[in-house]
Parts: sequence; structure tokens; C-alpha cells
Amino acid sequence: MRYLITGGAGFIGSHLGEAVLAQGHSVVVLDDLSTGHNLAAHTAGGCFTFVKGSVLDEGLVAELVEGCDVVVHLAAAVGVRLIVSRTLGSLITNVRGTQVVMQAADAFRKKVLLASTSEVYGQSREMPLREDANHVLGRPEVARWSYSLAKAVDECLVNAYHRERGLDTIIVRFFNTVGPRQSPAYGMVVPRLVRQAVANEPVTIYGDGSQTRCFLHVNDAVTAMLLLLENERSIGGTFNLGSSEETSILDLGRRVIELAGSDSEIVFVPHEEVYGPHSEEPLQRVPDTGRLRTLTGWRSTHSLDDVLR
Ligand code: NAD
Repeated sequence: MRYLITGGAGFIGSHLGEAVLAQGHSVVVLDDLSTGHNLAAHTAGGCFTFVKGSVLDEGLVAELVEGCDVVVHLAAAVGVRLIVSRTLGSLITNVRGTQVVMQAADAFRKKVLLASTSEVYGQSREMPLREDANHVLGRPEVARWSYSLAKAVDECLVNAYHRERGLDTIIVRFFNTVGPRQSPAYGMVVPRLVRQAVANEPVTIYGDGSQTRCFLHVNDAVTAMLLLLENERSIGGTFNLGSSEETSILDLGRRVIELAGSDSEIVFVPHEEVYGPHSEEPLQRVPDTGRLRTLTGWRSTHSLDDVLR
């Protein structure tokens, strides 16, 4: 099999590429290297091709999609800090980029897995979050929610290609995914806290730290993606993918400090200081992964402490 991974130089894509190469498949990565720089992992062995370019380049995307068997579309503008500071470019990449990929997949009849996000649940408080929960897409005037809106539009596009054009599609809603190679650059909490603790610098918690998240090891995420891609019954489906181990961000900070053997102190920073006056953050994010588990038998295998270590 020949996999085209858009955004394959990024955090999740580099791990997926490695796993696919290890299975003896070939991998083509299309990435503009705007935020991802993880090519060493792929190039270590196997049948690998890297193409520097954008998912907005229709001709290039069509050529690459034609030459592959399956497309995993991960390329996106990711990270609250990036989305808030470059909203327009992020929207174009995340909506138009998906349309370009879907158009090519349709033209050459290739299966596509789209990376969506738990952010499509907006501020929903119905925990655990089920795929059929109402989307609360937040308030479009708040830059942060442009990411959720774009990904929700992506989902609509993918579903339309499946229903109207009979294209084989899978949507995966990633909840917080963490592990080696995740960049702290755009506000990703775990790499930021780890970097601060290891350097014995103040560990900064945004808000009061009572907001909770569930952190899934990237290897568990890759396993789930491969199980879904192998399973014919996943076609046309939407799947939550995340850990069910819920932790507050304050507790996360304390665990990071303890595991790093660090002298760091915890410092609280108002959200507005980091993300501007209209910053909003969901208080809780817990996935219901029953649909994924029932279909594939998937289970996460790493605890939060494993992830942090
Ligand atoms: P990442 O930033 O590490 O990877 C995204 C990659 O896309 C980067 O390598 C970047 O250079 C590339 N890219 C950006 N714009 C591009 C363009 N126009 N053309 C080609 N490449 C482009 O992020 P990640 O954490 O690996 O996320 C992968 C996917 O999973 C994204 O679609 C993201 O929305 C989704 N997701 C991730 C998480 C998470 O916790 N990591 C959670 C929810 C959803």
C-alpha cells in the first residue's frame, strides 16, 4: 500500500508515517513545513518520499493523490496560539486545503481519513462527549472558535463526498494527543509544562487550572487510526479518539514537576494575557470512545504518567 500523509512532518503524522513504514508500506508526505519538522523519523528507513508543498496546491495534490492508495489528511493550522494570531490563513488552510484534498480523492476514488477534533464540541458540557451530541460551535466572533468551525465544515465536506459521491471516508475526532515530538511552540500544554519543569523555570498554568483534559499517547492514536483504516465497517463513520483518564491542568502541572524531579513553582496566568481579550476555554473534555472500541476492539495502553515519563 502507498499512503499519502498530508501534514506528515507534524507530530501525529510523523508517528503514523513511522508505523506505516514499519508495516512494509510506502509513505509519501506532503507538508509545507510551516509547523512540522519531524522528517528524521520517516527517513530512517523504508520506502519514503517527502514532497515540500501545500495542500492548497491543486495540481500537486492531484498528482500525489493519484499515485497513492489511501490518503490521511492531517495537514492543518493547529494550536490555539497559531489560530488566534493567524486566523485568516488558518481558516484557508483548514477549509480550502480539505476541499482540495477531497476533490482529488474523489477524482481518483481514494479512501480518505480526515483528522478532525474534539473542538467541534465547542463548549458542550454533556460529558462524556458522544459523537451524536449537539455541536456547540462556540461564538464565531471569538478567533479560537474559527478552528472548530473550520473542522466542522471539513466534516460536512467529507460526509458530503461520502453520501453524494460514494467516496470511502473516515473522520477521526482527536482529543488531546501527546507524546514525543509535539512542539510547545503554539501553546500545547504538555510539552510546554515539561520544558518549563525540566529547566526549573516557573510552570505556568492558564486560568485557575481547574479545567480538565484527557491526554492520549500518540502511539495509541496511531494504532486506532490503522485499525479504522483496515476496517471496512468504519467507512462513512465519525469516531472520537482520546483517553478517558481525566486530569485537571493544575494536577497535570504538579505531576510534571514531580516526575521531572524539578524545583519549579506553579504560577497562574490569566487566559487573556496569553490569548487576548476574547479568550475562552472549554472547562472539560472527556471522550466517549465506545463507537471506536466496539468496532475495532481498540483500547488505550498508556497511562498519563507513562505519557509524561
Ligand atoms: P502538527 O502541527 O504537528 O502537524 C500539522 C502539519 O501540517 C505540520 O507538519 C504542518 O507543517 C503541516 N501543514 C500546515 N499547513 C499546511 C499546508 N497548507 N500544506 C501542507 N502541510 C501543512 O499538528 P498535529 O498535532 O500533528 O495535528 C495533526 C492533525 O490532527 C491536524 O489536522 C489537527 O487539527 C488534528 N488534531 C490534533 C490534535 C492533537 O492533540 N495533537 C487534537 C485534535 C486534532
